[in-house]
Amino acid sequence: MQRILYIIAALLLVACTRPSVYRNDSGRVFGTYYKIIYTSPEDLHEGIVASLQSVNASLSTFDSTSIISRINQNDTNVVVDSLFTVVFTTAQQVSEQTSGAFDITVAPLVNAWGFGFDPTRTRSQATMDSLKACVGYQKISLTDGKVTKQKPCVQLDASAIAKGLGCDVVAQYLESQGVEHYLIDIGGELRLKGNNDKGEKWRIGIQQPAEDSLLVSNDVAAILSLTDVGVATSGNYRQFYYQDGKKISHTIDPRTGTPCQHNLLSTTVVAPTTMLADAYATAFMVLGDRDSIEAVAKANQLAVYLLYAEQDTIQSVYNNLFEPYLVK
Ligand code: ADP
Ligand code: MG
Repeated sequence: MQRILYIIAALLLVACTRPSVYRNDSGRVFGTYYKIIYTSPEDLHEGIVASLQSVNASLSTFDSTSIISRINQNDTNVVVDSLFTVVFTTAQQVSEQTSGAFDITVAPLVNAWGFGFDPTRTRSQATMDSLKACVGYQKISLTDGKVTKQKPCVQLDASAIAKGLGCDVVAQYLESQGVEHYLIDIGGELRLKGNNDKGEKWRIGIQQPAEDSLLVSNDVAAILSLTDVGVATSGNYRQFYYQDGKKISHTIDPRTGTPCQHNLLSTTVVAPTTMLADAYATAFMVLGDRDSIEAVAKANQLAVYLLYAEQDTIQSVYNNLFEPYLVK
């Protein structure tokens, strides 16, 4: 018996001292890629996939059985879960902070401009005007797990915030497993903790946009060194098409009903969570105006880096909270 105990104790010791190695996990989720680097003695693939699936089941408009899709279908039996609640509540706060530049009810317009889960591309002025009547974050509320719409045509689109939430949910899972170092990348939105395999803060690059080109440049506009934060970049240089010589971008100004058209090419936001970074990065793409971006960033303690087109050049501007992250 004693010998068995010794063997068990020896096995436990081996288990406890097995070194944490940097592991890689990757795959596809939310219509994009995910890549995760994390330290763990165990492979955590199954838990990672389960975490991502929980976000999908709650917030994917591309899955007709998700909570958000059932709300869009006006299913009166749907009761929301905790992930939906956190996204909805955060989205409404970001809408208020950005004078409606970010708006989770933008779905009918996104679909009408051909980017959404139901791309119709029917765009007469009359349709656009009637769709605008269905859009507005004040037209929907959440009480005791139930959403109430002012009009049945109100629909939700969480695409600009769900990837960020996905990063945070995976981060929470990894931390529950004792993981101390990780980089979670879902479609370019990031959540970071601890160090990389060289024992340094994580290093990431901000892509140099290629203005008015269908080519995506692989040049890097800036390199960041940072950790224990969420980072998101929103850009109008990857998701767009041309119509009548005009660039139609996937970021829609909910207040005018039209795709954003200004010289801002990308916005990068660093925040305590990737969900916040993601939502504000999209909101800033809509706001466009540097003064309002600065005002909102200051009020919410956000670090912001903008790339914009000026004549034939690409220029950058960032606030003082962003400065320490830049590798010079
Ligand atoms: P990006 O990396 O450019 O931010 P995202 O996928 O995070 O891309 O966000 C863009 C998506 O968000 C659009 O495809 C659309 O579904 C949705 N969206 C567009 N405009 C808005 C808006 N003003 N507020 C909230 N969501 C928006
Ligand atoms: Mg976004």
